[in-house]
Amino acid sequence: MKVLVYSSRAYDKTFLEAANQGKHELDFTEVSLEERTAVLANNCPVVCCFVSDDIGAEVLEQLSQGGTRLVALRATGFNNVDLEAASRLGITVMRVGHYSPHAVAEFAVGMILTMNRNLHRAHQRVRDGNFSLEGLIGFDLHGKTVGVVGTGRIGTVFSRIMNGFGCELLGHDKYENDECRKLGMRYVSLEELLDGSDIVSLHCPLTPETHYMINADTIALLKPDAMLVNTSRGALIDTRALIPHLKKCRTCSVCLDVYEEESDLFYRNLSNEVIDDDIIMRLLTFPNVLITGHQAFFTREAMETIAGTTIGNIDDFSAGRTNENVLNPEKVID
Ligand code: NAD
Repeated sequence: MKVLVYSSRAYDKTFLEAANQGKHELDFTEVSLEERTAVLANNCPVVCCFVSDDIGAEVLEQLSQGGTRLVALRATGFNNVDLEAASRLGITVMRVGHYSPHAVAEFAVGMILTMNRNLHRAHQRVRDGNFSLEGLIGFDLHGKTVGVVGTGRIGTVFSRIMNGFGCELLGHDKYENDECRKLGMRYVSLEELLDGSDIVSLHCPLTPETHYMINADTIALLKPDAMLVNTSRGALIDTRALIPHLKKCRTCSVCLDVYEEESDLFYRNLSNEVIDDDIIMRLLTFPNVLITGHQAFFTREAMETIAGTTIGNIDDFSAGRTNENVLNPEKVID
């Protein structure tokens, strides 16, 4: 099938072409899918999209007019897709149901270790011939309480690793997970988790219910020196509310791999541009903030699985088969 791969970078091309082995006609573009660029997919029955693409009702309308029948997401989260509009227009949406949860969980742990022990600042200092330890002090993870919001695949792997460090675990989820319980996790309300944790790590999906779950009111419940980590989706946090918190708390810290306005910034080299986003620029001035550009998924293993599942989804669609990755099964595949 003819497939237009939006928001693609060299690494997407490498992994998708290796998984495809010439079966489908893959065309790659670096541009993101949005109203302005949907026209590029005219006569492509399949578009392949990423988390930064806009797959709202207007875009789907245009894709439908151009003959698109399948949106193949190369991601797990689908908060950027209007599923109702897709079903109405007869467009099937498929995702990568799961891939290495280790990639994201290990990255969250990496952020915690980096922030806590100031590895990023130490590296810069030493490169500059500055071997002073002033301001680099951290804390032992052993014995600290870690709050895990969302104890699904990634949250469980993350909990296992933190348990290995000797941390106590608090969990908050709609469904309790036996594996986490076996690690000694105690399930509590979100309020109790925020109040009782030294580190809070977010691993739940972005839904209307979880949107801004971390806001000025819930931030006020955090311990004064708590570390907040978000490797899930940016809009779980009202980012604006972090700034007064960071100005006041001094000993707290924030690690973000995702940002609610990331689609205008991430996955691009803007080092020669004036960045017109005062919130992220202000956040970057705090020594106790660590930001990465939505890279937690980015391991070879995860990329192989994402590419393999995406091509498998396109294979199934083209053969008229459904599978567990279809997000709108009410749209009967014909
Ligand atoms: P999962 O579906 O296995 O787990 C999500 C968990 O969140 C489930 O246990 C679910 O019950 C829970 N949950 C749902 N609503 C909740 C609520 N209101 N309060 C508390 N818990 C709630 O998903 P996963 O594979 O573990 O992925 C988690 C999230 O990580 C994804 O939704 C995605 O947004 C994000 N993610 C980020 C990256 C990255 O590169 N940064 C990569 C992959 C996934």
